[in-house]
Amino acid sequence: MPVPFADLQLQYQTIRSEIDGAIASVIRDNAFIRGSYVDAFEREFAAAVDVRHCVSCANGTDALYLAMAALKVKPGDEVITTAHSWISTSAMITHAGATVVFCDTDGATFTIDPAAIEAAITPRTVGIIPVHLYGQPADMDAIMAIANKHKLWVVEDCAQAHLARYKGQQVGTFGTAATYSFYPGKNLGAMGDAGTVVTNDDALAEHMTMLARHGGLVKHQHHIEGINSRLDGMQAAILSAKLPHLAQWTEARQNAAKVYDAGLNQIEDVVVPRVAPDRTHVYHLYTIRHPRRDALAAHLNANGVQTAINYPTALPFLAAYQRFGHRPEQFPNAHRDQGRILSLPMFAEITPAQQDEVIDLIRKF
Ligand SMILES: *Cc1c(COP(=O)(O)O)cnc(C)c1O
Repeated sequence: MPVPFADLQLQYQTIRSEIDGAIASVIRDNAFIRGSYVDAFEREFAAAVDVRHCVSCANGTDALYLAMAALKVKPGDEVITTAHSWISTSAMITHAGATVVFCDTDGATFTIDPAAIEAAITPRTVGIIPVHLYGQPADMDAIMAIANKHKLWVVEDCAQAHLARYKGQQVGTFGTAATYSFYPGKNLGAMGDAGTVVTNDDALAEHMTMLARHGGLVKHQHHIEGINSRLDGMQAAILSAKLPHLAQWTEARQNAAKVYDAGLNQIEDVVVPRVAPDRTHVYHLYTIRHPRRDALAAHLNANGVQTAINYPTALPFLAAYQRFGHRPEQFPNAHRDQGRILSLPMFAEITPAQQDEVIDLIRKF
């Protein structure tokens, strides 16, 4: 029995009439760009993640750009982020005009090491972008303490962490702003690109809204030079149809993670994901460590189990950052992990039989 890495078609089948109805309504109402469906989703998502403003945009990458542009980063400014993430996080720092400063992860949770942040701060540092990677919150108490001490802004990258909590508080509510992606494979996914930036700061929300809509809120009144980064009505209606299911899908992922934990943690050489105390993990990805990762992946793939590596090269070592001349010993945890991480099939509808198959194959390996 083949086990896919994720199964978007299966999710669609479980809520098919709701999705089809949402799409039909948008077409009927000609509500393709902005309009009532986008307004409704913004209100609903803000309520779901406990924030005052949800500024929807075209994708999670633009969300990062909009936040930093509104925070007015400028050439010479330094922004600190993690060595272990998807490239959007660091690339948008550069595109917003600042300089990227990478920090190593903590060696256990795949999230940024607060001690490394403290060590990376210079008089030019203006902000920190922690990433709640794979769905586990970064150490927000420690990060906010550093930010407050040095008067830095914090933008949380929540692209993989919808509904995750740190000490009972939702991610995305600690920093000045937070960004989400609704890429189809994310825990809450559109059927195309979509994203949002959220904040409790009224002025920042208005500035980000203008930036995303050609620099103005009223047609032909351009107060600033903006970009075109809008959520379209179709994606908003699809997201509104899916949002009421998100809590249950998240619980299903967490239950699936328990099944993997129980089946895998006695197997020699397999390190299951470690969740730090006081954090809830929403398992966008279930990522193990294994010293012979490539051989294990080949074995699983040869037996019909799809896996992924998130990500095969840590950010500082990508060709895109050659200009910094980073060395492995500067980021020992991220460097070690890039060679041993392996993400296993994980989606809300995965069955115990599929998980047993994955676990058995790993045990045999
Ligand atoms: C997916 C992702 C993004 C980018 O989101 P897009 O919607 O694909 O632009 C940013 N950061 C992280 C950590 C992500 O996983």
